[in-house]
Amino acid sequence: MNVKEHVISLPRRVFVGHDIIYDISIYFSQLGITSPFLIVTGTKYTKKIADKVIENLPKDAKYEVIEIDTATLDDVYKVEEVVKKVNPNILLGIGGGKVIDVTKYAAFRNNLEFVSIPTSPSHDGITSPFASIKGLQKPVSVKAKEPLAIIADIEILSLSPRRLINAGIGDTIGKIIAVRDWRLAAKLRGEYYGDYTASLALMSAKHAFQCTKIINKDIKYGVRMLIEALISSGVAMGMAGSTRPASGSEHLFAHAVELLHPEGVLHGELVGLGTIIMAYLHGINWKIIRDRLKKIGFPVKAKDLGLSDEEVIKALTIAHTIRPERYTILGDRGLTWSSAEKIARVTKIID
Ligand code: ZN
Repeated sequence: MNVKEHVISLPRRVFVGHDIIYDISIYFSQLGITSPFLIVTGTKYTKKIADKVIENLPKDAKYEVIEIDTATLDDVYKVEEVVKKVNPNILLGIGGGKVIDVTKYAAFRNNLEFVSIPTSPSHDGITSPFASIKGLQKPVSVKAKEPLAIIADIEILSLSPRRLINAGIGDTIGKIIAVRDWRLAAKLRGEYYGDYTASLALMSAKHAFQCTKIINKDIKYGVRMLIEALISSGVAMGMAGSTRPASGSEHLFAHAVELLHPEGVLHGELVGLGTIIMAYLHGINWKIIRDRLKKIGFPVKAKDLGLSDEEVIKALTIAHTIRPERYTILGDRGLTWSSAEKIARVTKIID
């Protein structure tokens, strides 16, 4: 890639705190955000939170609401139809990963700003200028819009299902591997390696690891640590201008499983499993990672996620083909079936 300039896309303001949703109209006036708004939200649990946000919007604000429950290209088109109809000044994404992904991709395509109001700390898409949308050619993230502001209300995030919180921890711990893979690509392939952004991503992983020691005792403190880690991981991607600091072989494994078994699995859970396996390949202490995840109730076995042994092994053998330009510990040729099977058994992902 021959680029003259390096563009860093970062959120302008991040609000983190307890019950801050009630101050949303103050934040909007500080940032000069005015209606009409287009609110993108989910259909069930997150819709209730969106209603609470709406109650606290500036008086006389004009808005339209669109509900989605998947993150496909069709959902993006649906949002765009409403964009054309109501001509909003800004999009508000109120929801989990899917809602935020659709909102930021629609914002990017329509050259609009968006505000990220996460309802669960399930992955680092809350801040990053990349989105994962189904129906595009590849199962990996695409360029999207960075949020103008993030409003992370700890009270709301702490009430999200524990499975989603744990998934966020899995997604963040994965940066340990992503950064190792990046270093490897720099050594073996001469790829550019950004020390600062790598350190930032690694710090996120360390925070998430620390979080596993706290979260069972103090959910709110744990969620605060996690959300800050997720935000700084997204910032690392925005600074690097790519997902490189936050996505390596552990994500390639997760994307490979998503291809083979698209329903009912959470991204962060697959990244957690991938992290245990790739830690073994990198010669990192995978047992500590597995133990810490297990202690917080994270599914550390494939069958806990409804995955068969064959799906795990197959995913390991095709992971290197998902994004061939991204060099990782899996190399150019990937794993053979028998080595994949052996590694999955040694790390107790399969029995
Ligand atoms: Zn991820």
